[in-house]
Amino acid sequence: MRIGIPAETWPGETRVAATPETVKKLAAKHEVIVESGAGLRAAAVDAAYAAAGAIIAGAADAFNADIVLKVRSPNAGEREQMKPGAILVGMLNPFDADNLRALAERRLTAFALEAAPRTTRAQSLDVLSSQANVAGYKAVLLAADTYQRFMPMLMTAAGTVKAARVLIMGAGVAGLQAIATARRLGAVIEASDVRPAVKEQVESLGAKFIDVPFETEEEREIAQGTGGYARPMPQAWMQRQAQLVAERIKLADIVITTALIPGRKAPVLVTEAMVESMKPGSVIVDMAVEQGGNCALSELGATVVRHDVTIIGEPNLAARVAADASALYARNVLDFLKLIIDKDNNLVIDRNDDIVAATLICIDGELLRK
Ligand code: NAD
Repeated sequence: MRIGIPAETWPGETRVAATPETVKKLAAKHEVIVESGAGLRAAAVDAAYAAAGAIIAGAADAFNADIVLKVRSPNAGEREQMKPGAILVGMLNPFDADNLRALAERRLTAFALEAAPRTTRAQSLDVLSSQANVAGYKAVLLAADTYQRFMPMLMTAAGTVKAARVLIMGAGVAGLQAIATARRLGAVIEASDVRPAVKEQVESLGAKFIDVPFETEEEREIAQGTGGYARPMPQAWMQRQAQLVAERIKLADIVITTALIPGRKAPVLVTEAMVESMKPGSVIVDMAVEQGGNCALSELGATVVRHDVTIIGEPNLAARVAADASALYARNVLDFLKLIIDKDNNLVIDRNDDIVAATLICIDGELLRK
């Protein structure tokens, strides 16, 4: 089969869907076409892809393939360059109905990797986890870079410097990596999440868990989430959480928010009043900014100063660690391909396989999601 890897054209996207490491494995069995320059921003040069067995060509050749590997969903012009019936694999935004319709209209067979189940078997191809892990790390480094004080406690001849206090809102994959990274830098950390199961993970990383008590069985049940994901919490619980956060945030130097609910706008957890109560010079990194933001004052794609607090609303933080984010993503993609290519190198779409069924969003023009 012919596998194409075009360069990403989405603004600010630096990642690439295959690296020389994964191309080497693919090229042993398939013809692999890499668009010239596709990996440049992720430290993967054309010569490395060529040495791994790829043919370096223009975008039209990379899109004219049986299987196209992408990070972002192709735009209209890119879709036009794909063959009807071709396979598309990428982070295709399964909640964007217009995009899904456009892919189906082009008669593509498309797999949105973000829709894979959060099961043990799907772990090696879990793009949400691999990229959130990178983003959580980078969020702490961005915060540390902006914060005008030390992260660790220091005892010097000129006096003692206090450790930074970091508050993490949402302790999923990104939040847990943010805790681990802030901890390595010597900060004192507190974290909040709706899912009680997270408490143990937070504590095992050396952070304190902000326990919001449950007052009804219904609250406790909703907080368990579905399939590993959070569900919107009842208003009464959100209010109790807000009260506790309002207390803790006054003490925090750095706040990193990661709270998401799949397919919905992110919950607002940091209000303007909370920002106003923070110490001058504090920093907030809103990792949920692309889903509307966890902080009421964050702005997508901008760093703003409000009430003497710097609020970073940079999207796509994983793309700021492009080489490793690509390396992990490319391995996820390679593992996914093993599910749809059999040992004789033929395409087999087994819709009884739970990962294939969950990620398949359209097949030969039929839209499988709304
Ligand atoms: P996510 O990115 O969807 O959300 C980030 C975090 O925000 C979650 O922990 C969520 O509970 C939290 N959140 C939502 N609303 C909140 C609120 N109002 N207040 C505070 N926190 C709130 O989540 P994710 O990082 O993709 O991970 C979800 C879960 O799935 C994690 O527990 C993770 O460990 C689990 N997971 C399991 C597997 C597997 O078993 N293969 C793989 C990956 C992730």
